[in-house]
Amino acid sequence: MSSSISHLLETLNLSHITHSDIQPLIHALKGDAKVSVCHQGNSFEGRSIERITFGNGPIKILAWTQMHGNEATATASVFDLLDTLLSSSDESLVDAASLFTLDIVPMLNPDGAERCIRHNAQAIDINRDAMAKQTLEGNLLMDLVDTLKPHIAFNLHDQSPYYQCGTNGNPSTIAFLAPAFDVDKTIDKPRRLAMALISHMTDVLKPHINQSVARYDDTFSPRSFGDRIAGKGAATILIESGAARNDPDRQIARRMNHIAMLAAMRMLKREHQGDIDDAQLDALQDAYWTIPENTSETLSSLLIRNLHFVGPHSYQASISIKQTARYSNQFFIDAVGDVGVQAGLEEFDAGDLTYDAGSVHTLSTTTIITEESYHDWLRQGVIQFQGPIEYLDNQSPYQVLMNQPLSAGPRALVLQQPAYFLMRRGDSVVAAVINGKLIKLT
Ligand SMILES: [Zn+2]
Repeated sequence: MSSSISHLLETLNLSHITHSDIQPLIHALKGDAKVSVCHQGNSFEGRSIERITFGNGPIKILAWTQMHGNEATATASVFDLLDTLLSSSDESLVDAASLFTLDIVPMLNPDGAERCIRHNAQAIDINRDAMAKQTLEGNLLMDLVDTLKPHIAFNLHDQSPYYQCGTNGNPSTIAFLAPAFDVDKTIDKPRRLAMALISHMTDVLKPHINQSVARYDDTFSPRSFGDRIAGKGAATILIESGAARNDPDRQIARRMNHIAMLAAMRMLKREHQGDIDDAQLDALQDAYWTIPENTSETLSSLLIRNLHFVGPHSYQASISIKQTARYSNQFFIDAVGDVGVQAGLEEFDAGDLTYDAGSVHTLSTTTIITEESYHDWLRQGVIQFQGPIEYLDNQSPYQVLMNQPLSAGPRALVLQQPAYFLMRRGDSVVAAVINGKLIKLT
């Protein structure tokens, strides 16, 4: 059986989601007798913020997404979750409506979503406003927590693509946290339950994304909502959606959020029925600490290993290349040398290849650059053009450099500069890095 939103889920197969993207789903749910949709309030700029309620059972769950406007992955996931519950497509949860009251606020920060930025329209990070309470959006969430008094709170975010799962070379596609609610990181019953749920969700995700589930740092952050809400007695679970290889739109993390939240609901059902005892919860709590740490900023978009630099002083170095921000199309040289435990979402072992900064070609007439002709220019050692800007007719998929200060030094790379250089074997250019994209020319 399909639900009132099944046919709309595909419209959320996006790298970013805005307020208007979710309106058709909200509209469809308003006409669905199995849920209620309540206009919870407006953002600073007057965009509507809705709350969707499914079920009327004793286990109360509150989930919110996109408190940071440019973190949209789980917004799709909560609609996926609603679809599963409304279509009764998960047999173990057919009775969900009588067991759970699930409240969902999809997109708490629609103004930030509109601009694809973290902050709201006041330039305030809502997730640092839990004490100051100067944002409409943050107050809306806190009021909901105080009125609904959820047992379980899902705080759904996205994280940098450069978080590594421990030091295993894989991205943290999902990172979980049972946030601390005091500096001593006290573990009370709700926090223990959150940890146990996280261990269970991690186990369930393993067959899907083995070695890509991490545990977020639990330093107490008093200005953050998760930590504050944990202090109000809800078993609070932060889920950070992260990168996966060859998944720029984070559809893998989207699916993992969906699977994880369903797994949590199944476990809560068993716990409610008395099928999980204290010893099992303790064992799961212990297992929480064995989840690899979410290691900050130790991945790069492209890691070139062992490139040779030839000159009076020859050396070998690895090169880490990163995006300036998740949604930017600019890539820069982040680090050069021994990059330690760093790994790349894409890696290339340069082997016997040597670094070449490339040369500049002066255009004397209008020149069409296609993908193929650009490869030829690169083979000839040309990394950028100069001349009147209208002479360059770029029809290639690449960001071709023109009239820029040389991005790299002639003999050495320059940090923080755009990532453009060539790699040679003897006289032949066999590969290039063009704005962080690896191009193999053989
Ligand atoms: Zn966030």
